[in-house]
Amino acid sequence: MRPALKAGLRPLWRDRRTLQIGVDPRRAAALTGLGKAAAIVSLLDGSRDTAEVERTAAEYGIAPEAVNRVLGLLASAGVLDDFPADLHQALPDYLRARLAPELACAALAYDHGDGGAAVIARRRAAFVRVYGADRIGACVATLLAASGVAWVTCRDSRIAGEADIAPAGLGTADLGAARAAGVDRAVHRVARETRTADDPRRLPDLAVLAGHPDPVDVAELMRGRVPHLAVRAEEAIGVVGPLVEPGRSACLRCADLARAARDSAWPVILAQAGGPDGPATSPQACDTVLAAATAALAAAQALTFIDRAAPHVTRNGTLEVVLPDWQWHRRTWSPHLACTCGAAAAAPGPTRALSPGTAREYASD
Ligand SMILES: [Zn+2]
Repeated sequence: MRPALKAGLRPLWRDRRTLQIGVDPRRAAALTGLGKAAAIVSLLDGSRDTAEVERTAAEYGIAPEAVNRVLGLLASAGVLDDFPADLHQALPDYLRARLAPELACAALAYDHGDGGAAVIARRRAAFVRVYGADRIGACVATLLAASGVAWVTCRDSRIAGEADIAPAGLGTADLGAARAAGVDRAVHRVARETRTADDPRRLPDLAVLAGHPDPVDVAELMRGRVPHLAVRAEEAIGVVGPLVEPGRSACLRCADLARAARDSAWPVILAQAGGPDGPATSPQACDTVLAAATAALAAAQALTFIDRAAPHVTRNGTLEVVLPDWQWHRRTWSPHLACTCGAAAAAPGPTRALSPGTAREYASD
């Protein structure tokens, strides 16, 4: 083991006896009674294994027992990682530096003790295909690539226009060219190592359906049992989800059947408004910030799925924002008994209520 304080946390003194690791009480841990053994905290940057930490500490007159007591305390407080030296060696310098915030964030968010290594390994092995290069789909593609997803492709047959330009998506240089090619360029602007060439023979690990999905694409994904995440924003409403795991969670048709149960005219409305040629309304009522916020939340849900380290709140549900509220709300979509996808026979996925905590306290005696 190469003990390292979690990269995103700083050691700070609360008083002469209490060392606090981290600032925000929802992440921080306070350690008391460390004595002079507190000095070893400065050695915990992952550059030494445990034996080397003990040897260096001995030069300061700190016994191995005291070192192990501090390490145990830090580990039980959840602020100690086993530094991912192998992962660091496997990444080129520029990528290691670029992904450092991703590693630090994953290690904290998921409370892993590996410095985020497992999460980055999953992202480096993932293939995501984005269907639709509108201002949301293009942003989702760049966000995923910048987050370390190794293979991000885009399917879209349209030409880029002024309304497609978005800060994290297509730019003015892409105007008049194929939107899909513009997404490739946008991805490489932030993540030059990302593989963007599509392989039509391969099914992706995850599909993102931006805008109104083509029923042919949806049918292919359902047949291939490919998990897919829907995302759209129009009529000044952003919707992320559902995240469909075919046969295991509510699919897009499950949601439409539920809407039709409440509104008998829904199928007629849907037939006119949806489909691959949508949206029917132009201009699309999705301003730049709504597009960015919706794309960011969709990318977060996609990463949660790829990382496999937290519950998916868009499984059997959607996250929705109705402007000008800017408060995201979750809406539940249960598998529909009349749908042929088979999800109604599967158990609903877990959801987790998140609540802010207070600083956890750990004492050495
Ligand atoms: Zn269904």
